[in-house]
Amino acid sequence: MTLPVALTLNAGSSSLKFSLYDIAGEPAQMAIGLVENIGKQPRLKATLGEAVPRVERELTTAEASDHKSALATVLALLRKHFPEARAGVVGHRVVHGGPHYSEPMVVTDEVLAELNGLSPFAPIHQPHNIAGIEAARAAFPEALQVACFDTAFHRHHPRVNDVFALPREYYDKGVRRYGFHGLSYEYVSGELKRIAPLLHAGRVVVAHLGNGASMCGILGGRSVASTMGFTALDGLPMGTRCGQVDPGVIFYMVQQEGRTIDEVRDIFYNKSGLLGLSGISNDMRVLESAGVEAADEAIDYFVFRIRRELGGLAAALGGLDALVFCGGIGENSRKIRRRICDGLDWIGLELDHARNDRNDRVISTDFSRSHIMVIPTNEEIVIARAAKRLLNAQPAVAA
Ligand code: AMP
Repeated sequence: MTLPVALTLNAGSSSLKFSLYDIAGEPAQMAIGLVENIGKQPRLKATLGEAVPRVERELTTAEASDHKSALATVLALLRKHFPEARAGVVGHRVVHGGPHYSEPMVVTDEVLAELNGLSPFAPIHQPHNIAGIEAARAAFPEALQVACFDTAFHRHHPRVNDVFALPREYYDKGVRRYGFHGLSYEYVSGELKRIAPLLHAGRVVVAHLGNGASMCGILGGRSVASTMGFTALDGLPMGTRCGQVDPGVIFYMVQQEGRTIDEVRDIFYNKSGLLGLSGISNDMRVLESAGVEAADEAIDYFVFRIRRELGGLAAALGGLDALVFCGGIGENSRKIRRRICDGLDWIGLELDHARNDRNDRVISTDFSRSHIMVIPTNEEIVIARAAKRLLNAQPAVAA
């Protein structure tokens, strides 16, 4: 007997995250894991269901010298534990879908060429996403490959939220505010529709606060504004990314300090944000327990920017019916949620401290005009659902 499954892949610069879903009915997760440090000192971590002890081990360099060999290692593991599983479809997280892709796509040669053409828009992520697709195509020539884009959920922004005030030709060249974390927002918005349809129909700000962080204004289930822009650098400060800075800083670094563009990029992507401000760590748990001034200042800035963006997004939405937290920090840090919500009754938000401390789903008081909620995100299932949908939409091949 074979079991129809979908494999989902999220290929980063030196990591390959994977999960396996039983897609006979509503996708049900069977396994999840990752290979990290690909090409250096690779490690494999995987959870293969409740009956099997969690796998965590070093890999040899040969087992994960690149994405292709890392995928082969993952597949060997999955085949051993799920011999009856047959992957008819592989769903990929792809950071950039450019101006046109507002839905998941079956990856054909033409689509792959277009995604390659978008690499200059996301040079840090897109080439690795494509490497993941190529590795999966080689490993499963018969499986359908489906690309799910982090930009897609935001593709219907009104023009004022899509443009920069640059010469018009740049808009035509694709220099636009794309917004990212779209798979996470799609999931959270879908959950809101399921558990609180009236709120979903209203004005919602979702704060995805993880190592990457952004916020999204959603009106009746549609994204109308995001704090992220042309790249995943803009908006909130993140673990190591700077968030919003005056572009004049780049001129200063290049012209006055003599830095190369690659050095500036490295500073903005890898040495800034919580890490840069604290000088200690990009990890919120470390900063919360550090008890030193620089860590506190980094947290102060993180909270300040979130509160500021919340005001801006509420203005874009014409008010606020719900603030929803997700991501590692948003789902787990009571302290950060408390600091964000403190004194926001002017915008209708009143936090219930006991509910917040219990990590309840609804953490606002019964009297709060707007709701405050915590909805754990799940980007993988959004990919698995899209993969299943597109697989089922394929014309049946005659035997
Ligand atoms: P993510 O990228 O969504 O996995 O989120 C990673 C971030 O969530 C890191 O900064 C973690 O320190 C943070 N995080 C996870 N659990 C907690 C927690 N219990 N308290 C504070 N921060 C947390």
